[in-house]
Parts: sequence; structure tokens; C-alpha cells
Amino acid sequence: VKEQGRDAIQFFNKYMADKARNVLVMEGDLHRALEMEAFSLQFQPRVNVLTGEIVGAEALLRWNHPERGAVSPAVFIPVLETSGLIVDVGMWVIERSLQQVKEWQRMGLWTRNMRLGVNISPRQFRSSQFVDDVKRALRDIEFSAEMLEMEITEGIVIHNLEETINTMTTLQTQGINFALDDFGTGYSSISYLKKLPVSILKIDQSFVRDITVDRNDRVLVETISAMGNMLGLEVVAEGVETQDQLELISQYGCRYYQGYLASRPVDPNAFELMLEKKVIA
Ligand code: C2E
Ligand code: CA
Ligand code: CA
Ligand code: CA
Repeated sequence: VKEQGRDAIQFFNKYMADKARNVLVMEGDLHRALEMEAFSLQFQPRVNVLTGEIVGAEALLRWNHPERGAVSPAVFIPVLETSGLIVDVGMWVIERSLQQVKEWQRMGLWTRNMRLGVNISPRQFRSSQFVDDVKRALRDIEFSAEMLEMEITEGIVIHNLEETINTMTTLQTQGINFALDDFGTGYSSISYLKKLPVSILKIDQSFVRDITVDRNDRVLVETISAMGNMLGLEVVAEGVETQDQLELISQYGCRYYQGYLASRPVDPNAFELMLEKKVIA
């Protein structure tokens, strides 16, 4: 038994060592990715539940590894975050997506009432240059701040609530909107909703997934929608995949949705075709 325990520990240590090495290798690959233009963006439409109109888009980062192909953001975003690379890559996401939307605006496909959602990680948000870099990007690209929405999670406040509120307020003064992403999955979502200057609430897809079969999830989605509406927030349901789910969230007063039912995240060219049609059939 003792022998086995030692083996298990050895195995564990070896695994950890490999894992640490893997992370280092990935970090190196990610470092090179910016120069090699291995990052790209996809866009997913946000849709008005009642009219099917496209009201905006969420930009989602993609990494095409030279040997391993497409790597899931669930794998590489945490590595970007812990290594601090997210500061540069995140800025690239902001600049690239703003330029893309600006182009659609010039083509007459994007109107000023539409919104671009960009995911902002905690490390990126806390970096000292963040506010200045965002301001500069808005100015350089001549992008109207009202069209920009930063999607944050409550992980952003782990360190310092006061500082978080200050940074958010500064950006909000510029015209930028904030969405609380993955709402309901954290420990204190409701408390942050009260404290942070957010105007959009995104109901996490884990609540939407089983909405047609799970009564508890139905109650949660209905309650969150009602609360959001009463607080004057825009409520967006994430991960809507079926017509039945759409009908339920509609009944519950949720006005916007994203999900495979409307479209998966797609490359800019495919998104452009959707914008030309204006509505999701
Ligand atoms: P998120 O911000 O919650 O983004 C929504 C995720 O759900 C995306 O996964 C999207 O492709 C997926 N999704 C959309 N509709 C459906 C649906 O109907 N069903 C299902 N099952 N999934 C759906 P993705 O693109 O793999 O991104 C995963 C996460 O990685 C994001 O979650 C976000 O936290 C992070 N991420 C992605 N891009 C960025 C970025 O540019 N910066 C930062 N900081 N994080 C990012
Ligand atoms: Ca998001
Ligand atoms: Ca989300
Ligand atoms: Ca998420």
C-alpha cells in the first residue's frame, strides 16, 4: 500500500511537472502568436428576441496554433491571463474589433445604435495603461464610445472594489457601457449588480441550457429577467440554441439573446452577410 502511495505521488509530481512545462510551452507559442498573426476574431450576433433584429455583436478571440490548429479559448485565455500576455492581446482584440466595426459602419451595415461587446479580463482591466490605451484606441479609430460595451465578470473585483468602480466610472464617463457577463454563476452576482455601474446583464448559458426541462432554471431566468428589467438594465440571455428556449425567455421578459439558434460566432466575412440581411430569420 505504501509502495502504491509513493507511486501515486511520483505520478502526480511528474504530471504536474509536465503540465507546468506544457503551460510554459504554450506561453511561448502565445507570445509568438501576436507577431505571426495567429490570432483572429469571430463575431456572434446579439439579437432582439421579439423582432429578430441584430442589435450588436460580441467579439470572440480565436487562436490558430501552427501545429495544433484551433485551440479553445477555455484553454489559452487562462494562460494569457496568468502570464500577463492578456494585456497586449486584449488590446489587440479591442483595436481589431473597433476597426472591423468601423469598416462595417462605413459600408452602411452598422448603425450607431448597435453595440460591440468585447470581453475584458481582470488582469487586463487592472493594468495601469488600460484606461489610456482604450481612450487612445477610441480616438485613433474615431470610434464612438457609446457603441462599445465591455463584458466583465465579477472576477474583476477580486482585488479591489473601490479601484474597480473608479476605473469603470472613468470609462463610463467616456460613454462606454458595461455588461455583467456570466450572471448568476459567481458568489455575489447580485451584490455586484448593485455596486458596479453596469447597464447590461448577461444571463449565463448554464441557466438557459435546461430551461425547457428544469423548473428551477425557469424560475431563475424569469426572476433574473424581471429583476434586470425593474433595475432598468438590458437583459441578454446567452446560449440560446432552440426555438423552445427562445419562446421561454421571451415569455420571461428577456429582450435580447445570443446563441447558436441565431448563429455561432463566425468570421468577419460571414458576419457581414448577416448584417446585410439585418434580421435573423
Ligand atoms: P463568454 O464571454 O461567456 O462567451 C460566450 C461563449 O459561449 C463563447 O465561447 C461562445 O462561442 C459560446 N456560445 C455562444 N452561443 C452558444 C450556444 O448557443 N451554445 C453554446 N454551448 N455555446 C455558445 P468561446 O468563444 O469558446 O469563448 C469562451 C470564453 O473565453 C468566453 O466566454 C470568454 O470568457 C473568453 N473569451 C473569448 N474571447 C475573449 C477575449 O477576447 N478576451 C477575453 N478576456 N476573454 C475572451
Ligand atoms: Ca462574454
Ligand atoms: Ca458569458
Ligand atoms: Ca463564460
